[in-house]
Amino acid sequence: MLAEAGTGAYIGGSWVEAGSGRTLEVLDPATERVLASVADAGPADGLAALDAACAAQSDWAASPPRQRAEVLRAAFELLTARAEEMALLITLEMGKPLAESRGEVAYAAEFLRWFAEQAAHVGGTYRQAPAGGQRLITHRQPVGPCLLITPWNFPLAMGTRKVGAAIAAGCTMVLKPSELTPLASMALARVLTEAGLPRGVLNVVTTTEAPALVAPVMADPRLRKVSFTGSTPVGKVLLRQAADNVLRTSMELGGNAALLVFDDADLEAAVEGTMVAKMRNMGQSCVAVNRVLVHRDVAADFTAALAGRMGSLTLGRGTDAGVEVGPLIDARQRSKVAELVRDAVGAGAGTLVGGTAPSRTGFFYEPTVLVDVPTSARIHREEVFGPVAAVTTFADEAEALRIANDTEFGLVGYVFTRDVSRAVRVAEGLETGMVGINQGLVSNPAGPFGGVKQSGLGREGGDEGVEEYLETKYMALAL
Ligand code: NAD
Repeated sequence: MLAEAGTGAYIGGSWVEAGSGRTLEVLDPATERVLASVADAGPADGLAALDAACAAQSDWAASPPRQRAEVLRAAFELLTARAEEMALLITLEMGKPLAESRGEVAYAAEFLRWFAEQAAHVGGTYRQAPAGGQRLITHRQPVGPCLLITPWNFPLAMGTRKVGAAIAAGCTMVLKPSELTPLASMALARVLTEAGLPRGVLNVVTTTEAPALVAPVMADPRLRKVSFTGSTPVGKVLLRQAADNVLRTSMELGGNAALLVFDDADLEAAVEGTMVAKMRNMGQSCVAVNRVLVHRDVAADFTAALAGRMGSLTLGRGTDAGVEVGPLIDARQRSKVAELVRDAVGAGAGTLVGGTAPSRTGFFYEPTVLVDVPTSARIHREEVFGPVAAVTTFADEAEALRIANDTEFGLVGYVFTRDVSRAVRVAEGLETGMVGINQGLVSNPAGPFGGVKQSGLGREGGDEGVEEYLETKYMALAL
């Protein structure tokens, strides 16, 4: 049955109810009240979305790259024109303060602009065979229908980072956003449709039954690729499922970022960088700093300044003026944060500020600074995904690198120093896909975002972003 635009699943260019007629409720994490009800799709709906993507694939692959670029560019303009409305939607369903949601909309839109610019630049090669005679030609073709799975923490930007690249490459797709924040992806589908995206190229299914919906889509031999952003355990499940059909995979998984402050650092810049790397999204970011490693000679000054900043942040509903810290996404996430803080304190850490959840409605947790956190504490190994800065001191560069690399994750690291040689040495020594040097933010649509070790496979954005959605066809031409 047809559904009202924006409440259903978006399949083959129509908004439809879930086959079961069931709906799922979206909560505002600041008030714990229901914001909206949307389709709760099941496995048959997931397969219907894949049918639509498959039906659209050959025409879309044959479309002129310029047409794809123009759709993306128009979507960039529309999203930018509607920034305020989109930002409000993100704040309501996800909780971050409005100023941060505006930042996310701008970041999300930039992916569309970037991939619009990339779409017409996909090229091949032509070369003479080394032995002469033959000519070797390479041509780039879209991978084919893709499954794109996104998390709740950047509900719009994690979508455009995948959808933009897939559109530029000529792929069709099924987008499955997090059940906690489905509204941003549904709004994105409306924007892309208005921008001229043909029916069936993008299909969106929202569900509380992710494993049940995703498994048959992954098992369908028509699917060619899965791109996932989320936790490492779920990424591993998907990698195992992907093995059966030898799917192309892109995995943007968990992080455990270390931020290193050396004794020659500009301490003010280091505190500012730590605030950005720690507190963006209330710490619910895969690139959030999880472990702050500070040289012992500057630790007292650094932590005092950091505690001053963290302790003076204003907590509240993201729509209220002056609010700098919103709620966490749900009660489960808040319990995880509280548990890791308890564990660190039990292991001997001190609490300079915060350390508790305020007693009020909403899933809030106070900005917290822990000091002298022993490396045996769980927070050194597990992503806290909350507003907790765990500070540990080091004696020299070798020790700092050893602690930073002592994790199975490898998404990003940060280094603060005035010594250029040290910055380069440490950046090269960090076992991560990305490094912020004297700054707490690395995300940029023109830069290749991604991790090594168990933080993932592949890159999103940069020149690499479109590559993830392309195959190389090689033709040998006899002369
Ligand atoms: P999650 O792994 O619980 O969920 C991510 C998505 O996967 C959601 O859409 C969810 O519905 C779906 N999902 C869950 N189980 C599934 C299954 N068995 N089969 C198929 N789909 C399934 O992660 P989350 O809690 O939404 O997000 C937080 C995690 O995401 C953190 O670990 C964070 O580091 C990571 N993350 C990584 C990046 C990155 O670029 N590396 C960016 C943002 C978030």
